[in-house]
Amino acid sequence: MHINTNYQNIEETYLFSEIAERVRKYMEKDKGAALIKMGIGDVTRPLCHSAVEAMVKAAEEMGTPEGFHGYGPEQGYDFLREEIADYYQRTSGVKVFSGEVFVSDGAKSDLGNILDIFSVDNVVAVTDPVYPVYVDTNVMAGRKIIKLAATAENDFLPMPTPDLQADIIYLCSPNNPTGAAYDGARLKKWVDYANAHGSVILYDAAYESFISDPDIPRSIYAVDGARSCAIEFCSLSKTAGFTGTRCGYTVVPESLIRDGVQLRKMWLRRQTTKFNGVAYPVQRAAAACLKEKGLAEITENIAYYKENARIMAETFTELGWPFTGGKNSPYLWVKCPNGMRSWAFFDDLLVRANVICTPGSGFGECGEGYVRFTSFNTRDNTIEAMKRIKDIFGQS
Ligand code: PLP
Repeated sequence: MHINTNYQNIEETYLFSEIAERVRKYMEKDKGAALIKMGIGDVTRPLCHSAVEAMVKAAEEMGTPEGFHGYGPEQGYDFLREEIADYYQRTSGVKVFSGEVFVSDGAKSDLGNILDIFSVDNVVAVTDPVYPVYVDTNVMAGRKIIKLAATAENDFLPMPTPDLQADIIYLCSPNNPTGAAYDGARLKKWVDYANAHGSVILYDAAYESFISDPDIPRSIYAVDGARSCAIEFCSLSKTAGFTGTRCGYTVVPESLIRDGVQLRKMWLRRQTTKFNGVAYPVQRAAAACLKEKGLAEITENIAYYKENARIMAETFTELGWPFTGGKNSPYLWVKCPNGMRSWAFFDDLLVRANVICTPGSGFGECGEGYVRFTSFNTRDNTIEAMKRIKDIFGQS
């Protein structure tokens, strides 16, 4: 037997363990330090009332002979697939058929698993900096990866160039880690590129609910031509606080055909073979979040994080620190002051302000010289962290 030696090519990411280690060492010296984590990717607001109510009701149903649910459809219950299709219509004015919607335990699994339906010979394009899952899952399979630099010069939104030869293109908008988001015109260029080259765009819209600008599409399907070249990945993790509850969905349009085969049918086959569906109470809770009352409740939570982001953006603007994101995204990508490198600024913030951010260099070479802040902390912590930063760095 032989192991998959591609695993030996996965770069060890020391990012979060290195952060934890530096924090631990610092705390040994300054035991009473009141640290504020402004780098966290997890949310802090609890589930909304409608989600909890639906989950409890579904759990009680499960305890009765009439209401018991065993194995469900692998691709999700119709009640949720229809609710998601309706959500697309209401939020993006986009027509998605419920049969094109696949419910899953989150976007991360689908983003990795989707690669099952593509040849290992495909060339993959990702942005740099990048959400590491896109890179590692392709390294595991042994695919060639091209990196497209996301820099201040291109507004952190890489575009297709005439010499680009990519079969699979990952676009994440609003982006983790940069917070930048593609407008309709730029996205159209990617869609045209993919249709002209027969490529497939894997569009990660995990943060779509943070978009407020009308010229930034919440779904790639709002762009003409996307139904024949794009698969879209969404998640209730950040939208509705489902990071621990686990529910997401992926849309594979019927008209997405490669090598004469409908990719929707391939994905259905893949999911029915290797996946056994999401828990019934979780699907009920997800559906409740997308109905009118639930949607109003989760929108309040999103508004809470967006206000945190606004407070942070105001602080960085006052300090004269260039940044992107924070408006249509929970992330703020901040240029380190005085030309500092990412880890040097991380240490400086930790020691002088007791504030923890995420060094941008951990997301790729182009992230060097930047750090990522997130708006997922509580309002009080966000205000306190920004006050400390202003007090310390406003003078230097
Ligand atoms: N995509 C992006 C860009 C993310 O940042 C994350 C989570 O941080 C995910 C996908 C994963 O989402 P889920 O919790 O649905 O697996």
